[in-house]
Amino acid sequence: MSDCLFCRIVAGAIPSQKVFEDEDLIAVRDINPQAPVHVLLLPKKHIASVLDAKESDSELLGRIALVAGKIARQEGIAERGFRLLTNTGPDGGQAVAHLHYHLLGGRKMGWPPG
Ligand code: AMP
Ligand code: ZN
Repeated sequence: MSDCLFCRIVAGAIPSQKVFEDEDLIAVRDINPQAPVHVLLLPKKHIASVLDAKESDSELLGRIALVAGKIARQEGIAERGFRLLTNTGPDGGQAVAHLHYHLLGGRKMGWPPG
């Protein structure tokens, strides 16, 4: 079994609250939510970050944006808006080295981010 936390979630070895799943992607509620809605979208296959994505991952990455919109509507945050982001590397604040996008909404987001 992989020692990657999110690969373990994908495999079902760590329980999660899934809000979406298809062949290539899953979306789960963040365990430590930073907003009323805080969902993580991740590819099932292990890609460490956007820096490790390949040309052949283009469709997968594009689908993450489409699925994020679908989940935003489902969660009732589409009308007022939301934030979709991926932290990358130490300066980006990435804690888990398996590509994931945060979908945050249900409150007004600050800018610039901290
Ligand atoms: P990042 O800092 O961008 O790598 O984000 C990692 C995110 O994973 C954080 O927001 C954590 O709260 C979240 N997280 C860590 N463990 C779990 C878990 N078991 N289930 C759901 N989310 C998790
Ligand atoms: Zn992984």
